[in-house]
Amino acid sequence: MRAEPRDGPELNWQAEFRDSAMEALFQRTLTSYHACQLRVALFVIAGLFLAFALADYTVLGAGQPFLTLLAMRLLVVLTCLLLGLAIWRRPAVAHWPLPINLACLLGISGLLMTIPLRPAGDGIHIASVVAASMALYLFIPNRIQWMLAANAYLLLGFLVAVRLWAPLQPGLLLTSLLLLGFVNLLGWMTISRIKRLKREQFALLLEERSANRRLKEEIREREELEARLRHMACTDGLTGIANRRHFFELAEQELRRARRDGTPLALCMVDVDLFKRLNDRHGHAVGDLVLSTVAGCCQAVLRDSDVLGRYGGEEFVIALPLADLGTAAAIAERLREKVSALRLPMLGDTTPLTVTVGISRLEEGESRLDPTLLRADRALYEGKARGRNCVVVASRPAPEIGDSEERPRWAYGKLTRADTNATTPAAAALAALPADEPAPGHS
Ligand code: GH3
Ligand code: MG
Ligand code: MG
Repeated sequence: MRAEPRDGPELNWQAEFRDSAMEALFQRTLTSYHACQLRVALFVIAGLFLAFALADYTVLGAGQPFLTLLAMRLLVVLTCLLLGLAIWRRPAVAHWPLPINLACLLGISGLLMTIPLRPAGDGIHIASVVAASMALYLFIPNRIQWMLAANAYLLLGFLVAVRLWAPLQPGLLLTSLLLLGFVNLLGWMTISRIKRLKREQFALLLEERSANRRLKEEIREREELEARLRHMACTDGLTGIANRRHFFELAEQELRRARRDGTPLALCMVDVDLFKRLNDRHGHAVGDLVLSTVAGCCQAVLRDSDVLGRYGGEEFVIALPLADLGTAAAIAERLREKVSALRLPMLGDTTPLTVTVGISRLEEGESRLDPTLLRADRALYEGKARGRNCVVVASRPAPEIGDSEERPRWAYGKLTRADTNATTPAAAALAALPADEPAPGHS
């Protein structure tokens, strides 16, 4: 795969961003780096400049010219140190043209002063001018125009000083000029290249950062979407409780836990009574509201560990971990009472709201929910048959002995008052418990 050719950032002849805001950002970002570079350069230059006083002494002795040169060197060193300290305290000074160029001006002037004050072999002065020129380009972080100006001053000053105080042979002068011209060209090209590369790198970094930001944003949006989809896949849109699929996922977990720990697990099937009539009388919108209200009632009577789901239509299903039939019956009775006590203004007095609940428990040896659910469902329809608004407890399945034709496979708990009143208080449900079921002790 061929990489797409990529346009670099737009730079001007000074190898700076054409976009001034971008250049300002670049400068701001590199302030501490430039400050550190300039500080080190100033301290090194100051040290070297002072060290050359030793050479002055060996050449000049302790006479007037030496003292003049020493004073000049001390002034340059002091300026460098002061500027270095100022930058230490305030890194932004590294980008102030005035103090930096003043220091350069002073340093170059000091260097030029050595030509009249310290007569030396021609090569020495050329060498020091070349070294100063390279330092101006490579070690002092400055704008290119200032670098060129400082170097022009150095070159012209050198020519004037040489002309006045240390005339060179024409051949040597030409060689010096060519050498200094070459050094300037080299310095300019090198610093332009360095500046260009730094800015290209900076532009790439910014691009990468913004791509990263976009990517992070995209990941966050996708995660949100995923969470929303997961929520939608598990939740019933109308009532906000678990949908049938999710209910079974959770209930299966409870079943496995109950089998592993040998603890009880009860199931309740809850069905809103005569809901079709309610819909017909008041409309589906009111019906929907009633379903949400009943779901709310279910939640209100359950513990956090209980599992509630919408089984479908106006039917709800509840898994009650650690609940025996007595506990389940008491909880169901609380739910039945709560729903029947509701006074919903939109239903008026003519449409009572009640539920019928069928309850069963996980029997020993059962490894699936279906049979337990089937028993709860049959208990529910037994309750419907007996007049609704009641709680019916399914008894354990009858043992398969002898003629199964005559003995029903599923026997329901005997209904007491529910038979006659069509309302089943907890006592009625409890009365219907199998003989071995302990009394309810729910929280
Ligand atoms: P029973 O007491 O025997 O349960 O009678 P019922 O009328 O409640 O039972 P039936 O199964 O005849 O009617 C259930 C009604 O529930 C039929 C259907 O239109 C209604 N229904 C199912 N889902 C929704 C729903 O999401 N919103 C509304 N408003 N009604 C629904
Ligand atoms: Mg119904
Ligand atoms: Mg129904």
